[in-house]
Amino acid sequence: MIAKEEKEKQKKQGMLDNVMRQFNHASDIIGLNQNVRKILGITNNELVVHFPVKMDNGEVEVFTGYRVQHNNALGPYKGGLRYHPTVDIDAARALAMWMTWKTSLAGLPLGGAKGGIQIDPSRYSASELERITRRFTFALGDNIGPELDIPAPDVNTNAQTMAWILDTYMSTKSPNERSSNLHVVTGKPVGAGGSEGRDRATGYGVYLCIKFWADHNGISLENRKFIVQGFGNVGYWASRFLEEEGAVLIAVQDASGTVYNDRGISVEKLRAHAGEHDNMVQGFGDAEPIDSELFFGLDCDICIPAALGNQITGNNASGIKALVIAEGANGPTDVEGERILLEKGVAVIPDILCNSGGVIGSYFEWLQNRNGEIWQLDEVMAKLEKKLKESFDRVMRVASERNVDMRTAAFIIAIERLEQAYRQRGIFP
Ligand code: GLU
Repeated sequence: MIAKEEKEKQKKQGMLDNVMRQFNHASDIIGLNQNVRKILGITNNELVVHFPVKMDNGEVEVFTGYRVQHNNALGPYKGGLRYHPTVDIDAARALAMWMTWKTSLAGLPLGGAKGGIQIDPSRYSASELERITRRFTFALGDNIGPELDIPAPDVNTNAQTMAWILDTYMSTKSPNERSSNLHVVTGKPVGAGGSEGRDRATGYGVYLCIKFWADHNGISLENRKFIVQGFGNVGYWASRFLEEEGAVLIAVQDASGTVYNDRGISVEKLRAHAGEHDNMVQGFGDAEPIDSELFFGLDCDICIPAALGNQITGNNASGIKALVIAEGANGPTDVEGERILLEKGVAVIPDILCNSGGVIGSYFEWLQNRNGEIWQLDEVMAKLEKKLKESFDRVMRVASERNVDMRTAAFIIAIERLEQAYRQRGIFP
C-alpha cells in the first residue's frame, strides 16, 4: 500500500505530465510550428519565494510561495493562487499552462499563470492567514501587477484573500498610483471593487456547459442524477444551478468524506451544514456516509469533479457510470483515465472549457475596474453565457470537423490562436 504522501506526490507530478501530453497530442494533429511548440512547451517565468510570518503564539514560520507565468503572448498573465499542501513548482507549472489554453480558448486578451502557497490553511487562524497572504503579496512585489500578472481565487482562497492582496499591493505603492491599481487581482468582494457575479461565475459556467452538452445531445436535465467532488465555490454553485434546472444531487465528496442519498440532497441544506462545520460535508444529517472509494462508481448521469487534479485515473475510470464528466477542477482526469472514458463512450467536457466561466468573470471584473464601470448582475451573467456558448459551439464544431474528442478540439483552438499571434508578431529581436 502506497503511503498517502507518496500518492499525493505522484498526482502532482502527473499534472505536468498530463498537460504536456494533452498539448503535444493536439500539436501533433495540427502540425504546430516547431518554434512555437518550443516556446509554448515551457514557462516564461518562475518565481519561488520564502517569507517569514509571525504566528499567533509569537513564533515565526517560514512559508514557500510560487508564481509561475507561462505565457503572455495574448495579454497579461492571468490565473489563480491556491493554498494547499500539494502546491509546488510542477503543480504551478501545470496549472499555469492550463490557464494559457483556457484564456486563449475563451478568446480573452490574457495569458496564463498560476501560483500559491504550500500550506494546509485549516491549520491556521484567520489572522495568521491574513498575515501569510499579505507577506506573500509583499514577497511577490512587482512581479504581479494590473497590466502584468493578475491573480484570482483558486483552491482554498476566496474574495477575502483577494481583498488582502489588493490592500497590501496598494499600500506599498506611491499615493498617486493607488487608486488605479484595483485590477491587480480579480475575484474581490463586490464592496472592494469586485464584480457582481464573479462569485458564481465558475459554477454557473460548469452548469451552462452541462446544459449546452445536454441540449446538443437532445437530453433533458430534469431528474438527472449528479455527483460532485469538492463542495467549495465551484461545486456549490454548479450544484445550485443544476438543482434549479430539475437535476438531483445524490452524492458529494470532499476532504472530510463522502455523503450519499439516492433520493436527493438539498444543495442549500448541505451548504448550511458545511458553513457550520469548517466547510466540510461530513456529518450531514440527510445523507449517509459512504466509503470514499465508491464515489466515482455511483450510479448517476453527471459527474462533476470540482476539487483537485488527477482524481479520475486508470484506476477508477472503468467503474464510472455517468454519461458525462464536467470538469469543474483543473486537470481532474488524467490521460489514461480519459482514454478509458472515451472508449466507454463517456463524454468529457474539458476543464479549459468547462471551468472557464471563472476567468471570463475575472476578465469582466478587470475590464470594469480598468474602465471605471460597474455592471449589473444580469448584464454580467448574460455576457458570460454568450461567451461560453461561443466557446462551446466552436469546440463542438472543431471536434466534429477533425473527428477528435472535446479536449483535443479545445486545445487545437487555443493553440492555433497562440500560433497565429507568434506568426504575426515574430520573435524579438
Ligand atoms: N482559479 C480559476 C481558474 O483556475 C480562476 C482564474 C482567474 O480568474 O484568473 O480558472
